[in-house]
Amino acid sequence: MAEFVHLHVHTQYSLLDGAIRIDDLLRLTAEYGMPAVATTDHGTLFGAIEFHEKATKAGIHPVIGCEMYIAARSRFDKSSADSRELCHLILLAETQEGYRNLCRLATAAQLEGFYYKPRIDRELLQECSRGLIGMSACLHGEIPRRILEGRMDLADQAARTYLATFGENRFFLEIQNNGIAEQERVNQALIDMSRRLSVPLVASNDCHYLSREDVRAHDVLLCIQTGKTVNDSERLKFRTDQLYFKPAAEMAAYFKETPEALSRTVEIADRCRLEFDFKTYHFPNFDTRGPQSVEAHFEEKTRAGFERIMARVRAKNPQADEALYRERLDYEIGVVKDMGFPSYFLIVADFIRFAKERGIPVGPGRGSAAGSLVAYCLGITDLDPIAHGLIFERFLNPARKSAGGTTSRRSSPSASSRPGP
Ligand SMILES: [Zn+2]
Ligand SMILES: [Zn+2]
Repeated sequence: MAEFVHLHVHTQYSLLDGAIRIDDLLRLTAEYGMPAVATTDHGTLFGAIEFHEKATKAGIHPVIGCEMYIAARSRFDKSSADSRELCHLILLAETQEGYRNLCRLATAAQLEGFYYKPRIDRELLQECSRGLIGMSACLHGEIPRRILEGRMDLADQAARTYLATFGENRFFLEIQNNGIAEQERVNQALIDMSRRLSVPLVASNDCHYLSREDVRAHDVLLCIQTGKTVNDSERLKFRTDQLYFKPAAEMAAYFKETPEALSRTVEIADRCRLEFDFKTYHFPNFDTRGPQSVEAHFEEKTRAGFERIMARVRAKNPQADEALYRERLDYEIGVVKDMGFPSYFLIVADFIRFAKERGIPVGPGRGSAAGSLVAYCLGITDLDPIAHGLIFERFLNPARKSAGGTTSRRSSPSASSRPGP
């Protein structure tokens, strides 16, 4: 069987544009005997981690990519003419650095370049191109556009620029199998260009839905996106019903003249290797602004807070069992340090202190965080867990750690139990 991997795929995270669910995509990839698959959602990486985790679990090699929108001029330029000139470009993360660059690009696209679509620009791409592989994308790619305009000179120029941006063997001309007449012309021109400029070809199918039968559902999705009805003759409509996840044999039959464009998909997928560390916590580090370690600083602050709250406890209840409080304090400090949370506690305490100093209302503590004496000592919460009989282990549970719980994100102070107002 011909070896082929889809490197241009839009999942449901190409919002109201992709009709492919990640689970279904992986099932079909396995069914077709494809060793790998990429996701290249439009302008976002929303689904990247879910995809990577699920694919890895399913034994399919995941390639994380993105189909970026590139502004004609600057990403800061928000004029209507500019939005019509928006070009597509496929980026795949080859290395860890590439993934970080992809994240930077996707973030800037939303925060700085958003104008109808999340956009980057050439300047930013130049800055963030390391570790990335580029592909020339669909008919909305810059090179296909120039070809269709009859400007081969500009098409060549664009290809040279991308080559210089990504580097040798990191930029590919994408030929697609979608049955659109213009695509045929573009494919021929790209094959010519590939020989002329020594830019390798890669085959793809710009998948927007899994099977051919899904084309109608996808069309409805487009209507929802554009606020039109299916009966509207003037609306945005895809010009083909072939943007489905084609099996390798179908791709091979179509691209029989350029078999290297098929096998190259497997090579590219193989080069793109990312590993994510989900086993350790990635909290920001608290800066103690001195030689003191975060752990020592945390303990000092907590114990100082303890003396203050004990004065309050004693005033309220002279019978209070101070030994019980001290025992609980030592225990909690030990657990927090042991589980690596001192920075986290200090940072949350800093938020709450900041809010209180400025009269921003914060509640007395929410969820299971209220069960922590340390949180009370640091001013994160405002209630005495011992007087109220609240259990610390509901918040942080060292037993889950010894049972391998540190490897689970669930053992961190989770969304539902995060100390907060
Ligand atoms: Zn595209
Ligand atoms: Zn696409």
